[in-house]
Amino acid sequence: MLQELENLESQFGPLDPEQKSKLNEAHKLVAQRQYQVAANIFSDLASEMEDANHNHQAATFHCQAAYAYADCHFEEAALSHARTALILFMQSHLKKQAKNFYLNITQILTNRDMKVAMEAIQKEFGAKLDVVQADLNEYLVARNVHLLDTCPKCGALINSTEVHWIDDNTAECNYCGAQLRDDSDNASA
Ligand SMILES: [Zn+2]
Repeated sequence: MLQELENLESQFGPLDPEQKSKLNEAHKLVAQRQYQVAANIFSDLASEMEDANHNHQAATFHCQAAYAYADCHFEEAALSHARTALILFMQSHLKKQAKNFYLNITQILTNRDMKVAMEAIQKEFGAKLDVVQADLNEYLVARNVHLLDTCPKCGALINSTEVHWIDDNTAECNYCGAQLRDDSDNASA
């Protein structure tokens, strides 16, 4: 029971009902590939969380805004939100989250050919987060797993080279954090 409450708390954090409905709307827009409108909502939610001093939640929304701006090829905005997310994670002493996001956004910016943003992020944060080239190479290696095409929770498109990997078989949706497992067992059954 306690565990369930903690999960609920971590899922919704400090959001009020209006903010929760905005978040649901953003997830729907992502599922419909309306990335720019979704990105604007994530960006608003991030500012509201920053104003309320909920820096961890703000960082999470800045990450989602960065992914969504990258997905609609708005490089400057993707860079700006990625940078703010990393600064907030580091200010909150969430170095592991910062490093995970760094690896993920680096891959996404690389895939989108957003070199300016990628190089800026690497230059500003690579050393601070102790990310060495070997970490990056290891992270970028193609994984031989099969994930569902869309997130079962929010409907976002899933690309197995662009999700945050928790372990060898489990990844997290970039937009809602739902855990995605290798479904090759189901596929072959
Ligand atoms: Zn999702």
